[in-house]
Formats: sequence, C-alpha cells, structure tokens
Amino acid sequence: MGYREIIMGKQKRIALVAHDNKKQELLEWAKFNKGTLANHILYATGTTGDIIERELGLKVIKFYSGPLGGDQQIGAKIAEGEIDFLIFFWDPLEPLPHDPDVKALLRIAVVWNIPIASNRATADFIISSPLMNTEYVRLVPDYQGYIHRKINL
Ligand code: PGA
Repeated sequence: MGYREIIMGKQKRIALVAHDNKKQELLEWAKFNKGTLANHILYATGTTGDIIERELGLKVIKFYSGPLGGDQQIGAKIAEGEIDFLIFFWDPLEPLPHDPDVKALLRIAVVWNIPIASNRATADFIISSPLMNTEYVRLVPDYQGYIHRKINL
C-alpha cells in the first residue's frame, strides 16, 4: 500500500477529551501548557471543553458530551482531515456506557495516523516536540486499493 501526504500546518487542530476521573489531570496539564495551547485550535467533547474554556479562558470548539456522541463527532472530524491531534485521557479503571465509542475513536485516530496521547506523560512528550512549531508531513496509507476493491456479487 502506498502513502498519501497530508500537511499539518504550524497551527495544529487539537482535540481534547477526558473522562470524568481524568478531567482534573487534563485540566492541570492544560493549565501548565496554556501558553502553547493558545497558539493552536482547540476542539473538545462538551464537558471537557466547558472546563477548559472556563478555567483557562481559551476558545474551544465544542462537540456533544462524549456519551451523547461527542467522541464519534471527533472521530468524524479526524476522518475528514479536520483534526490533527488527539489528547484523550481515558479512564483505565472504570467501564463506561460509551466504551465502544472510545474504542472507535482510538481506532480511527490510528487509521488516519494522527498523534494520540492517552496519558499525561505522552501528552508532555508530544506538546514539547519541536514538530509542534513546524509544518509536518503526515503519511496516511493510500486507501484507494481498499475503496476500489472487487466485491464478488
Ligand atoms: P465529556 O466527554 O467531555 O463531555 O465529559 C468525554 C467522554 O466521556 O468521552
């Protein structure tokens, strides 16, 4: 399979999502990195976005709350090439009603080869990468072969 190049601009489009038990941690991380986050475009699921807006005073483009479809909305934006980045602090210790949506979001982020941070250490490494301040050529598998696969009817 070949690859297609997708250019990520200097200004990244970052989606932020945190499960309830992880919201405090995401908030602390976002506060610490407010200066950097302010240079990028922020998206979030509903409640996470409300908290970031209120506590940091940054503009956030908000979707529905995760369990009401927000995770899937973010997944759709990733597939459409409108989100470059996923910071998703999911809760490893508690089952949630929208676990299938969580899995779907993580899967679609891999399909489109976008960076994903599932915990604070990874988020620290990602946000301090020199690539945050430059354009980045993201290689995405060329799915044309799949799209035009032969279906025997
Ligand atoms: P929330 O959704 O930000 O609206 O709480 C997060 C999630 O549970 O996916």
